[in-house]
Amino acid sequence: MDNAFLQAAQLILQAKYLVAFTGAGISVESGIPPFRGPGGLWTKVDPRHFEIDYFEQHPEQSWHLIKQLFYESFKNARPNPAHLALADLEKKQRLQSIITQNIDYLHQQAGSQQVIEYHGSYRSLRCLKCNSHFTASEHFLNTLPPHCPQCKGLLKPDFVFFGEPIPGSVINQSMSETMKADAMLIIGSTGEVFPASQIPEMAYQYGSKLIEINIEPSNYTRTLKPLFLKGPAGQVLQQLMNVMSDIENKKS
Ligand code: NAD
Repeated sequence: MDNAFLQAAQLILQAKYLVAFTGAGISVESGIPPFRGPGGLWTKVDPRHFEIDYFEQHPEQSWHLIKQLFYESFKNARPNPAHLALADLEKKQRLQSIITQNIDYLHQQAGSQQVIEYHGSYRSLRCLKCNSHFTASEHFLNTLPPHCPQCKGLLKPDFVFFGEPIPGSVINQSMSETMKADAMLIIGSTGEVFPASQIPEMAYQYGSKLIEINIEPSNYTRTLKPLFLKGPAGQVLQQLMNVMSDIENKKS
């Protein structure tokens, strides 16, 4: 058996408080491309559309792109074996929470309940004038840009754009989970998006053990030296779950 998988499985089985930190890479096997790297969104789309000032000045142009990139492509995406494995770990009380940078709602669709959406969610719309929130249903997206039914202000997807702060409550919740963690699974993240990138660093400083799953080394691989499991998240997590079952079966 692969030694790294054995070590990771033992670490998870021994952990008292395991937290997962996920990035765009976990959803690649569900057909959603990441932003960075080969095939990533930034090789095709100008990230300026996701700057809050640009969006407010060019709402119609930005909304057409946002609708196509997120609302039309996310509609058919389904949780993959990686999302399902994390939901299973939570059900077995081996995983306490997930801090995700993703906005695609796939963790919740897989059955995970303790999910902190660090960058918000595409499923909700927020009025930039009165701050009301609405479910991003089809009828809002028929005429672009959508406007608030209450005050006619501009509606924006409730995920964090460049130039917008992370809500304080989200930062506090994430810090609290990170400080409690004695083990953290870092899955599919480059570690380049600040301030989310600091979460694994903080876990490391608080003495948490780190396991990383990625198809290639990230900033974390180099700086935090986690136990590194190379490969697509779905395949790696499935294999890891099998190794954990083998260990448990041998014990009983
Ligand atoms: P990123 O786009 O910067 O990097 C993706 C990472 O995933 C890379 O390290 C890459 O090597 C890895 N990866 C690619 N395929 C993988 C696979 N099959 N299994 C495991 N790892 C794989 O992603 P990021 O660091 O998460 O930051 C980008 C920001 O963009 C995030 O904050 C997120 O909000 C947003 N984003 C979200 C989604 C989504 O909701 N699914 C998609 C794209 C971007």
